Amino acid sequence: MSGAHSAAAGQKTSSSAPTRLGETLGAEASREIDSLLGKELGASRVEFEALETAVRRIVLQLGANLISAKLNATGRDDQGLALRCRCGSLAHYCGRRTKRFICSLGELNLTRGYFHCAVCRRGFFPQDHRLGQTERSLFPGVVRMIGQSAARVSFAESRQLLWELAQVAVSVKQVERTAESLGRQIAPMSRR
Ligand SMILES: [Zn+2]
Repeated sequence: MSGAHSAAAGQKTSSSAPTRLGETLGAEASREIDSLLGKELGASRVEFEALETAVRRIVLQLGANLISAKLNATGRDDQGLALRCRCGSLAHYCGRRTKRFICSLGELNLTRGYFHCAVCRRGFFPQDHRLGQTERSLFPGVVRMIGQSAARVSFAESRQLLWELAQVAVSVKQVERTAESLGRQIAPMSRR
């Protein structure tokens, strides 16, 4: 993404608030795994594959929740900042907006600062640019997975593969749009 936005006013430092939240999230995940293990390992026949899949999902989502908590608590794009827009004017802070993203660990609910430029009437989320998020709410790792699978199998099969192999839940539509967008980026390069 070429449109870097420069900070024009003071930046806030990150907070240590998520530490306690991290402990809570970790304890919740641990309890969930404990209960799952108690139930499954107590059965006469252990379905180990189902068990490891369930535990994997909990652990991955814990990682995603920790990242969300940390990102939402750091005020790098918080109130009070004015950022330089691509057009050169100052874009002003208009509050924080929450959106659901998908990374290779799971879902992230991120609350990010929104800035609007009155001159070119454009709004943007600096954090989205910083993290390399796409318009379709997918993180680069997931976009790469889609690119790899959609180049080999159908969009529906790609969605299935992402879920079965990596526990990443995307829709067929997301696979299709992402693959088409990647195709448009790759086509001019292959003609050189
Ligand atoms: Zn502007």
